[in-house]
Amino acid sequence: MGIQQIEVYPVTLAYREPFRIAPGASTESHNVIVKMVTDYGVYGWGEASPSERVTGETAETVIKAVDKIAPKLIGMFPLRIEQIVEVMDKLVAGNPSAKAAIDIALHDVFGKTARKELHRVLGGYRTEVLTDVTLSIKTPREMAKDAVKAVKRGFKALKVKVGVNPQEDVERVKLIREAVGDDVQIRIDANQGWTPKQAIQALNKMAKYNVQFAEQPVPAEDLKGLIEVKRNSPIPVMADESVHSPEDAIRLVKAEAVDLINIKLMKSGGIHKARKIAAIAEAAGIPCMIGCMGESEIGIAAGAHLAAAVRNIQYADLDSDLLLKDKLVKRGGTKVKKSMRVFPKIYGLGIRELDTAKLGKPLKTYKQ
Ligand SMILES: [Mg+2]
Repeated sequence: MGIQQIEVYPVTLAYREPFRIAPGASTESHNVIVKMVTDYGVYGWGEASPSERVTGETAETVIKAVDKIAPKLIGMFPLRIEQIVEVMDKLVAGNPSAKAAIDIALHDVFGKTARKELHRVLGGYRTEVLTDVTLSIKTPREMAKDAVKAVKRGFKALKVKVGVNPQEDVERVKLIREAVGDDVQIRIDANQGWTPKQAIQALNKMAKYNVQFAEQPVPAEDLKGLIEVKRNSPIPVMADESVHSPEDAIRLVKAEAVDLINIKLMKSGGIHKARKIAAIAEAAGIPCMIGCMGESEIGIAAGAHLAAAVRNIQYADLDSDLLLKDKLVKRGGTKVKKSMRVFPKIYGLGIRELDTAKLGKPLKTYKQ
């Protein structure tokens, strides 16, 4: 029983509207889909959604990395995930979203081989996952309108993008809180946009609007700044861009730099290492969130299954498939009902059928 064939499909998926965060705006997501075919009738889907800004990757580098890795995996038993991760790391340094695409496809195969939904074989802690929806940066007034629309659609948690101008950012949170009332969770993400001083001032002003936590207030590499913000913020501080790997998680735990960690499969290299980050954080008393880049329904399903499986992944920001206009999955995937990611009774990731016109023909096929 082994991996027989690996197919690689680059796809371009358009956002519904330009998605703006502190470092810039995107109009489309350039992702790479991987299909992993075994010789025993089971196949799995995986996805890379590379971010040049966060991991230095593009669709082109993902394709290049997979080109190094895929030929070596042909013939390997697909459930030896720990061993395959080791092979990948020896062949190519970094490139976490390329590795995530392979890792996710392996986990889809794992669930399908076990004939269970993936979250049930990964730990099975919960059966649905509360996700927020992200409000892209606009004027405070426009964002308050978007917040009301999101709450009308059923969302119980909002992730508010900030990090542009601290004073205006406080105004964003104020107007949104006033518009949606007290029952909606509000979390913010500055995407490295503030200095430590700006962060401390802004967070102290925002605290009265009941902000659940603040993601990546300062630049990723500014560990000192992160510690300073954490010590002086009334709002819990979450690392995102500062933590990619289990090694990063240990470093921040030792430095007592954050209250929370945002795990993303595209930073960690997939589910296998994401679980290690969650375990390190759990042992340190640090709850985690699972976030996303620009994944379609495939990558989002992977994140949602992991979040359902693992107790310490207490928050989810799994909404990129909703922000994308283009849909890759025709049947299956995780739907959102009243802010909850719910799972179909389909094995593995739960992807039943892809839109073959959107997917196109494989750019590369690796086989024996
Ligand atoms: Mg973030």
